Amino acid sequence: MLLEIEDLRTTYTDSSTESTVTAVDGVSFEIEEGESFGLVGESGCGKSTIAKSVMRILPDNGRITDGAVRLNGEDLTELDAEPMRQRRWTDIALISQSAMNALDPVYTVDTQIKEAIEAHESWSEQRMDDRVVELFELVGIDPERRHDYPHQFSGGMKQRAMIAMALVLDPDLIIADEPTTALDVISQDTILHHLEELQAETGASMLLITHDMSVVAEMCDRTAVMYAGELAERGPTETIFTNPYHPYTLGLKNAFPSIHGGADSLISIPGAPPPLTDPADACRFADRCPFAAPECRSSDPPMKEVADEHEAACARIDDVGIETMREQAAKR
Ligand code: ATP
Ligand code: MG
Repeated sequence: MLLEIEDLRTTYTDSSTESTVTAVDGVSFEIEEGESFGLVGESGCGKSTIAKSVMRILPDNGRITDGAVRLNGEDLTELDAEPMRQRRWTDIALISQSAMNALDPVYTVDTQIKEAIEAHESWSEQRMDDRVVELFELVGIDPERRHDYPHQFSGGMKQRAMIAMALVLDPDLIIADEPTTALDVISQDTILHHLEELQAETGASMLLITHDMSVVAEMCDRTAVMYAGELAERGPTETIFTNPYHPYTLGLKNAFPSIHGGADSLISIPGAPPPLTDPADACRFADRCPFAAPECRSSDPPMKEVADEHEAACARIDDVGIETMREQAAKR
């Protein structure tokens, strides 16, 4: 297994109010070699916090308080700063939500990619330049443009340059956190397809984070659905879409008549997620769930197997019956 996230818990403290937000509360999933894994959920549910926890780039008030993040068997949460620095870019690379603004306006694009190489390897100038040319070809930018400054690039080209940078040292795992949110719909589509091709070509694994169900449906082998700091459901993407089990996922599917319909439909289930400060020992979806029973408010349901390699965290599936749940969800 390439990446094993086991019972990860990550908190943020607010120094002014002394309150603690548990942004990720006991999340587990695994990513196989070469696999594309999707993580979906609405805004604020903790997706980026998972990415930052894996990369160990949490802000000063953020902390991993529990669990393990194993990459090729090595627990990254236990590593000192320097060995962790070496793992970044070399083993895991992040294409972040605001990636295209991450380029420094003062330096040419190739200079910045070479700096990333130099931080890890001692390659000759020629070898670095060859690699930049190769990567530009790979991500579909004319290599002649490598000496340009970032402002000479369009938004889509900047995002491609960031993808090139992420690939520069052949990482085993690429984490793409909403890699195209800043782009228009057509560029988004092009970049995502390109990312998919690159992932297949390089054999890297990918953790693709998005709030857009249609993106995971197209790109990911397996998917985890996240809700208020926890996973609601996890399984093969195909069955998550065709045979969902968790009432939240059922609601999402309902809110999403066509999987190619577009983004932002996740929030059309009435209600809002609970605050992540002092989470109660209860199902977090209970207040929005048409199938909730008293037991849902007195303990937090664990993930349990519902079908082959498919798990959901709902205590009501057996009592209500999955067929009844699906029928009722479809009527709403
Ligand atoms: P989005 O889809 O909007 O990117 P997300 O799923 O990536 O959302 P996170 O950014 O991981 O969500 O945030 C999870 C929770 O942690 C939210 O409630 C957020 O307000 C809180 N949070 C995130 N960063 C911090 C921080 N630096 N300090 C305090 N709370 C934070
Ligand atoms: Mg985010």
